[in-house]
Amino acid sequence: MTLSIPSTNLSYPNVAKAANNWQGLIQTYRPYLPVSENTPVVTLLEGNTPLIPARAIAAKIGRGVKVYVKYDGLNPTGSFKDRGMTMAISKAKEEGATAVICASTGNTSAAAAAYAKRAGMKAFVVIPDGYVALGKLAQALLYGAEVIAVDGNFDDALNIVRQLSENYPVTLVNSVNPYRLQGQKTAAFEIVDVLGNAPDWLCIPVGNAGNISAYWMGFCEYHTSGKSSRLPKMMGFQAAGAAPLVSGEPIANPDTLATAIRIGNPANWQKAVAVKESSGGEFNPVTDGEILDAYRFLASEEGVFCEPASAASVAGLFKVKDRVPDNASVVCVLTGNGLKDPTSAVDHSLNELKQGIPLNLEKVAGIMGF
Ligand SMILES: *Cc1c(COP(=O)(O)O)cnc(C)c1O
Repeated sequence: MTLSIPSTNLSYPNVAKAANNWQGLIQTYRPYLPVSENTPVVTLLEGNTPLIPARAIAAKIGRGVKVYVKYDGLNPTGSFKDRGMTMAISKAKEEGATAVICASTGNTSAAAAAYAKRAGMKAFVVIPDGYVALGKLAQALLYGAEVIAVDGNFDDALNIVRQLSENYPVTLVNSVNPYRLQGQKTAAFEIVDVLGNAPDWLCIPVGNAGNISAYWMGFCEYHTSGKSSRLPKMMGFQAAGAAPLVSGEPIANPDTLATAIRIGNPANWQKAVAVKESSGGEFNPVTDGEILDAYRFLASEEGVFCEPASAASVAGLFKVKDRVPDNASVVCVLTGNGLKDPTSAVDHSLNELKQGIPLNLEKVAGIMGF
């Protein structure tokens, strides 16, 4: 079996063994995905991310509630966007595309750049100037994408790339590309595969609402095929300054430090409303202050470093915790790795860096409290 588009025809027979038989999500969930023998699988062995028990979060809720975090920041480019991108790029390759384009708050551009290059394609990424976290920008540049920072927000960037893909020979790989959601739904499969059933609640940050729609699709498909006996309540959380699905109206100037969800007019709006209605779920806002509290709590109490947007799922759970049923199981999705946004970490840590310390044993021991 070929694991990715090889630039040579070398085969790597030991890869599957070394990765504990994990061959990427397309290979693993092939019967559930729109791929055929003719689809060239472009993979970085994404997926199979840990579902980590979060006992400190659970302790803040009590009443026997079990909390897990789905740490999708451990994907190859550091966010869940890899799940969608392995599908979108494999299908684009199958259809003969030679170039892809996306608008991005950062993570989509990193994933598109990495997978496109692996497939031997050109990647164009359009980002809102000044609102992309440093790690994400670093990735898109180093993976060799053409990075175009425009004077506008994400919604403006998406408008432009939609027009570009209609008028020029470039394939759009934003979450309006249906293959993205197909790939992303596998995260729901992984959760059910570990828990043996769907959780009672799924808490998830929402920007363009592609991911919440993809999770719901995954839970529904597994339910239909008898892999789970229930469906979760889908709890979507938006930053208070960028919460159009809460207010019911697009927002012209979305504002939040959680740049990955700084979106005023979600591309998957209708799907998101349908998910809420069919799952008995909700959209709720969380303030930047609440996001930062959860961000620090995750790192300092659970040892899990995510980016600020990801912490919205935990901030949201804390906000509605009194309404979680006794003994329920809750999964919070952590969409991206904390290393994506080192600036936020340094700026918002409450922990002080002890600087200017002389190289002296007693002085250092003194600071250590000895
Ligand atoms: C893209 C992204 C989101 C939002 O996902 P949507 O599918 O746009 O709702 C949340 N967190 C991170 C880290 C992201 O990169």
